[in-house]
Amino acid sequence: MEKWSCLNCEMIYEPDIYFPFCRQCNSPLIVWSKKKGRRFDLSRPSCLEKFKSFLPLSRINKNLLLGEGNTPLIRLFRLEKKLEAPFPIYAKNEMANPTHSFKDRGTAVVIQKAVAGQIKKIGTVSTGNMAASTAAYGAKAGLKTFILLKEDASFEKTLSTGVYGAHLISVKGDYGGLFKQSYEIGKKIGIYFANSCDPYRLEGYKLTSFEIYFQLGQKAPEYLFVPVSSGGHLVGLLLGFLELKREGYIRQLPHFIGLQARGCSPIVEAWEKNLTDIIPVKNPQTLAHAISNPSPPAGRLVLKLLYQYGGQMIGVTDEEIMRAQAELASFEGLFCDPASATTLAGLKKWRRLNPEVKPREAVLVITGSGLKDLSPVKERGKISLIPVRLPCLEEALVSLAL
Ligand SMILES: [Zn+2]
Repeated sequence: MEKWSCLNCEMIYEPDIYFPFCRQCNSPLIVWSKKKGRRFDLSRPSCLEKFKSFLPLSRINKNLLLGEGNTPLIRLFRLEKKLEAPFPIYAKNEMANPTHSFKDRGTAVVIQKAVAGQIKKIGTVSTGNMAASTAAYGAKAGLKTFILLKEDASFEKTLSTGVYGAHLISVKGDYGGLFKQSYEIGKKIGIYFANSCDPYRLEGYKLTSFEIYFQLGQKAPEYLFVPVSSGGHLVGLLLGFLELKREGYIRQLPHFIGLQARGCSPIVEAWEKNLTDIIPVKNPQTLAHAISNPSPPAGRLVLKLLYQYGGQMIGVTDEEIMRAQAELASFEGLFCDPASATTLAGLKKWRRLNPEVKPREAVLVITGSGLKDLSPVKERGKISLIPVRLPCLEEALVSLAL
């Protein structure tokens, strides 16, 4: 039978989708398995089927899939040149998921579990990306879906969630309190709130690590740059590489570099002060809304894992984020959200701090699309429209083409 465990204090628990936290240290739980001899089935088209042996699923219900995963790993040749980087830099483009963010991998596993367990109502607490993802998969599975949005969720994110027909509830009040209450209310009325650190979501994020491993020619990247909000994504990616190591596919784990925006960086602050737990941020202020989490539920766990496996946290300013967002778009054709742009901003900062280190390669995990929040682009105000009358078009093009 499936068990869950706490990576922080190693307690083992019975699975309880209505309260997936350690009763001792409050860290989010993970699916615990001693199973060995897992195999890949790369002939399968869907990522859940390819890596089923690594997932806590006895079968994959194909009717619930939306084409998640299988996202491209793109080499950033032009940025390598601009940054004078003597090593390859890749982007794992998670914008290519069905609702344009990495969340779909997690939701895909959550929905498989929910339907197999006869759950009829699901929900999530989200700043936006997880809301759209949960609403889409809830629609596909025909489940009643309840989305609790932060009141400052962007206009684009609210619309792109509402379109799937879920119940959208905009909640005024403390985000940490909302997160906690969702579980209490969910248990009472039978709504499975699959929030950011849900153990099944983390199982979905492992698949990204497996894909990167194959896309790099069956090796782990030496450095992996990941935006950090709740901490669940980073933990899931690390779990993926830990399982690859345990199964003997890789010898070395990647160095994980977790990124946060300086305006809301509780894990970076704890890291810099050598603390073992985070101090919640009182007044988060950053345009990287997707990672603006003042009290990350996996904060303590992320710190422990980074100390244990040799990673690091780096904070970047909104100015650095906006520059990186523009560079990823104009040099590489990748229009990502500010949260994702922290990876490039962080890589640049990391290189300034470690000029002597020449990694074999670095992978930036691009977690979500820029289209879901256009306000930073609007604020930057550098997009110019050239007005031309039709008779003057040729003349204008000639002058531009010179
Ligand atoms: Zn614990």
